[in-house]
Amino acid sequence: MTKTIGVVGAGTMGNGIAQVAARAGYSVVLRDMKNEFLERGMKAIDHSLQRDVDKERLGANEKSEIVSRIRTTTEWSDLAQADFVIEAITESIEAKSEVFRALDKTAKSGAILASNTSSISITKIAATTGRPEKVIGMHFMNPVPVMKLVEIVRGIQTSDETDKETRRLVEEFGKTPLDCNDSPGFVSNRVLMPMINEAIFALYENVATRESIDGIMKLGMNHPMGPLTLADFIGLDVCLAIMNVLHEELGDPKYRPCPLLRRYVDAGWLGRKTGRGFYEYNDK
Ligand code: NAD
Repeated sequence: MTKTIGVVGAGTMGNGIAQVAARAGYSVVLRDMKNEFLERGMKAIDHSLQRDVDKERLGANEKSEIVSRIRTTTEWSDLAQADFVIEAITESIEAKSEVFRALDKTAKSGAILASNTSSISITKIAATTGRPEKVIGMHFMNPVPVMKLVEIVRGIQTSDETDKETRRLVEEFGKTPLDCNDSPGFVSNRVLMPMINEAIFALYENVATRESIDGIMKLGMNHPMGPLTLADFIGLDVCLAIMNVLHEELGDPKYRPCPLLRRYVDAGWLGRKTGRGFYEYNDK
């Protein structure tokens, strides 16, 4: 039975996952490479929980208890206590393989190793470990504390027990698990990312301004936000990485990432997290 949850990566998704796990009563060990990344992650958690305190959805004491259940570390060895580890690092097969090899060495032999990857093959990630039956995709949506869906992705070797425990945990987090086979981009990004990429092409080809593209999709399709705003929110580097996986793995030119997306990523305009993407953000 899972008591302690390890989270690797304290960025946009990792800090959200740590928060949700701690709020569900679990002890959390949150690892990133540098203390400054951990501090930034803990600040984001504090900010998010404080919003709930201000709206009287959470008591100030409860908030302190949630925060006190999260321990931060830069050491692999601290993940040895975890019964279940969720990886949420950069969307790169090389980086993730390295992390899964390290986790396989450090984590308890019975621990489940889950990846929050948006598009990379779970079967491939699992094959870098000596416990492929205990590796599974657990794809949370952004922002994690708000969004109800977790896509559950089974690799070819994932066992029924691993799937069962993962689904149980997702439900304990107050979220809905929905199954999907291990295919590039799974369901969510197979459908969402080509739409975002097409919106970027529309901007690139001067079909309309950024405001018009977003306004048309928001008002016309009843989407809560326009695709360019959403891309900034997700992170343009993450969007590009997902498009590259769809393009390379499915081999269809319809998945070609828009050159404007590549250019923005080259410039370091990654969206909200860097203060500039398709829009400018003054709060950073
Ligand atoms: P991010 O860039 O905000 O955060 C990544 C974090 O991982 C950084 O803090 C980085 O320092 C850390 N990291 C990198 N290598 C590490 C290592 N070896 N050990 C520990 N920490 C390490 O990225 P993100 O947006 O949180 O994305 C993380 C994962 O979640 C990716 O696989 C992404 O595809 C997926 N995802 C992202 C979104 C989204 O909307 N951003 C949604 C669903 C899934």
